[in-house]
Amino acid sequence: MPNRRPKETPPPADGAARAAIAPVICYPVATLPALPEAVIDGARRALVLRDTVLVPPRQARCFRARAGQVIRIRCIDGPQVGDLNIWNLHDLSERFFSGKTRALHGTHVTTGDRLWSSLPHLRPMASVVADSLDWYGIDAYGGAVHDVIGTRCDPYTHCLLSGGDHYHHCCHSNLTRALAAEMGLPVAEAERHIHDVLNVFMCTGFTRDTGQYFMKASPVRPGDHLDLLAEIDLLGGLSACPGGDCGSLHSSDLVQCFPLLVEVFDCALTPGYQPAPANRYDRSHGV
Ligand SMILES: [Zn+2]
Repeated sequence: MPNRRPKETPPPADGAARAAIAPVICYPVATLPALPEAVIDGARRALVLRDTVLVPPRQARCFRARAGQVIRIRCIDGPQVGDLNIWNLHDLSERFFSGKTRALHGTHVTTGDRLWSSLPHLRPMASVVADSLDWYGIDAYGGAVHDVIGTRCDPYTHCLLSGGDHYHHCCHSNLTRALAAEMGLPVAEAERHIHDVLNVFMCTGFTRDTGQYFMKASPVRPGDHLDLLAEIDLLGGLSACPGGDCGSLHSSDLVQCFPLLVEVFDCALTPGYQPAPANRYDRSHGV
């Protein structure tokens, strides 16, 4: 149970009626530009492998993809969760906006959903064009895969909760080291670019009784993959989380971990693919 004080305020006379009001969706997505079927189809045809990056267990690696290329994240040796960061290859300040992606598409993403970029950009950076775990749906616990709830495991939270233990292979640190190496940045500067992730293959939800964030062993198996169409030129970072399948622990060397494979393909759409246009808001903010 969370560390909460007992409730102090009795419900008002109409409390039950207030609670019975039906919810409305915050962001109805009927007006959101949907990913056309033709794009999903094109991203699955004429695949030609252009690059391969192996992400070792408890490490991260960077990769690059041009607009119109397909990034495939593959489970290869055993159940493993991957923490994904993506940036505009030409401007690291434009990066994945997990919170708005969650607000628009829900707590987990699958085929047809898009990965949106941070303000003031807010455009699709990548779109999910294939998901071999789309059969999973939402399980009896409320769990689903490819989470955009979680942030990334990090040594600060671990230090806080463990009473001071220093662990250096949390996804936050792995991504920091990988970005520093890829861009030739000092570690402290690279760290500032690490952001909330897409937790690829991670199975999570919120408990119904306490509203707490939970994880459970990922249903991913070797051969499973998540495919993303790059909508702009991308730099990516992927960490093979020290939590392995995230079925018990993270932020330690105690559980079995496996590598992940990133493959970058040309596809039928790649030649001349037009990057996602900038957001149309004029940025005047009422001034
Ligand atoms: Zn992690």
